[in-house]
Amino acid sequence: MCGIVGYIGTDLAYPVLLDGLKKLEYRGYDSAGVALHLGDKVAVYKKEGKVSNLENFVQGKNVQSLVGIGHTRWATHGEPSDRNAHPHYSNSGNIAMIHNGIIENYAQLKEELVQKGYTFQSDTDSEVLLNFIEDIKINNACTLEEAVRVALKRIVGAYVILLLDKDLPDTIIAARKGSPLVIGIGKGAHYLGSDASPMLAYTKEVVYINDYELAIVKADELILKNLGNETLTPFVQQLDLELAAIEKNGFDHFMLKEIYEQPKTIFDAMRGRLDMQQQTITLSGIDKIADKLLAANRIIIVACGTSWHAGLLAEYVIEELCRVNVEVEYASEFRYRNPIITDKDVIIAISQSGETADTLVALENAKQQGATIFGLVNVVGSSIARLSHAGAYTHAGPEIGVASTKAFTAQLAVLYLFALKLATLKNTISQERYHRLINDLAEVPTHVQWILDTQDEAIKAIAEKYKDARDFLYLGRGYNFPIALEGALKLKEISYIHAEGYPAAEMKHGPIALVDEELPVVFVATKDSYHDKIVSNMQEIKARKGRLVAVASTGEKTLADLTSDLLYVPLVDEVIAPILSVVPLQLLSYHIGVLRGLDVDKPRNLAKSVTVE
Ligand code: GLU
Repeated sequence: MCGIVGYIGTDLAYPVLLDGLKKLEYRGYDSAGVALHLGDKVAVYKKEGKVSNLENFVQGKNVQSLVGIGHTRWATHGEPSDRNAHPHYSNSGNIAMIHNGIIENYAQLKEELVQKGYTFQSDTDSEVLLNFIEDIKINNACTLEEAVRVALKRIVGAYVILLLDKDLPDTIIAARKGSPLVIGIGKGAHYLGSDASPMLAYTKEVVYINDYELAIVKADELILKNLGNETLTPFVQQLDLELAAIEKNGFDHFMLKEIYEQPKTIFDAMRGRLDMQQQTITLSGIDKIADKLLAANRIIIVACGTSWHAGLLAEYVIEELCRVNVEVEYASEFRYRNPIITDKDVIIAISQSGETADTLVALENAKQQGATIFGLVNVVGSSIARLSHAGAYTHAGPEIGVASTKAFTAQLAVLYLFALKLATLKNTISQERYHRLINDLAEVPTHVQWILDTQDEAIKAIAEKYKDARDFLYLGRGYNFPIALEGALKLKEISYIHAEGYPAAEMKHGPIALVDEELPVVFVATKDSYHDKIVSNMQEIKARKGRLVAVASTGEKTLADLTSDLLYVPLVDEVIAPILSVVPLQLLSYHIGVLRGLDVDKPRNLAKSVTVE
């Protein structure tokens, strides 16, 4: 959450910063701001709301600067407002700073500073850290770099900070712990960002900054140090990312573009891994920890949000195919409830960004207790990828829409491969079932394309019919239960309609009380071994005058008697079906969100890459 950018070089900084902020806006859009070095002073321009508000505000102002930093905020401390927007000035007005993260001990530090006469213009934790740094600089009569180093040793929490000092016109100081920071190396210029997207147009050479590192960035020099003031050698990597991947390519929204990319992204997730000629699966991450996996007492899946739903489905699939215990944990709960972990545990961590703060800390704890970590992430080189013993990338490309779509189906594709591969290693699957499942899996990209080509219009019509509903219920059984949860989450995120996902049979233990002639109930009811049961559940809703919508397998006849609002997906094995069932539900949420006039790419209060707890 929160996007940070920086530029120092031979061009005007402001256009680079503005363009970078637009690319990072998916990370937060409560306010935006920039600080520019203007010779004798550091100017700060900032505004509540989206980056476009900042752009309007800055028009006509002096932006003649070759050095600057910028921020797009996802508020944690203090409401979204001009006052709380970053950058912040220190009390002397000499230093400006932006911050991504949370300073957990800010209250104590603030009290100390107030005692010393410091005043605060904002309610943020960030401004406290800035003045704490300034106070150390003044008291120790030291450089800004030294003051930052001393200050950070007392900081509890997570941060990326970028600082501009009036007296250092040729330098940006940057430091990180827990939140992501990338520095791009250009010709006589350096670019800083929360991810590589702001620098893609200018350079392919980047350095991922690690926790507890501090960078002194000049136009033609990058000095990297640890907090002990030892100089480190920056590890320069080549970016494997094209600019087109982070643009809309003619779609109205990133979310729609990403839904439509799924035939390709699911294929990419399996490319080089699923070999249909040999009928084999290669996952080097599994090979690397095969001994641990075969000896494991259980697999624990740790994730948040949509990734947690992927994990829940993986629990069903892995237990079924590999006959090993699987537990699925919300990272935020897992990390605080003192779980029992041994060196016999294998943890699968699922995160699109690879930076999810709760997942990251949960893994660090589990790793210390001897667990083996398998990371399933989308962003190459991200913190979770680096912390894992082994893993697999989802290769879905950058996901900009805040509501996850293509990252989810790519996660599922890899998790299926994981389960099938492990089942062959453990010898828990018959040859016949293995071949049937990999054949169905290989066909998934084609099936998703069919859904996009043939169902979108029908889905739009259903969206039109139900767009004004106050609540929705999503029900599914077995493999489709996690998809009911995901369908409900997608609708909540994008349309702000209250929606609940539930196991279809459980609805009798509570949610059925909600059913009346107003309530749409979406059944994820593809053909499976308990199909008759879910049809009975649909009857129960119909008997109470609920409005039925169903995701059904092609060729399905019984459901047509119950409702005409059917979203079809091709008939495949019940284990594989969920990766198809979710696609019409993504489209349903998208269309309802658009019809309600909402900004589906940047839903209210949300942001992507949750780097705060
Ligand atoms: N904690 C800071 C604030 O609320 C930074 C939040 C962010 O990462 O955007 O301003």
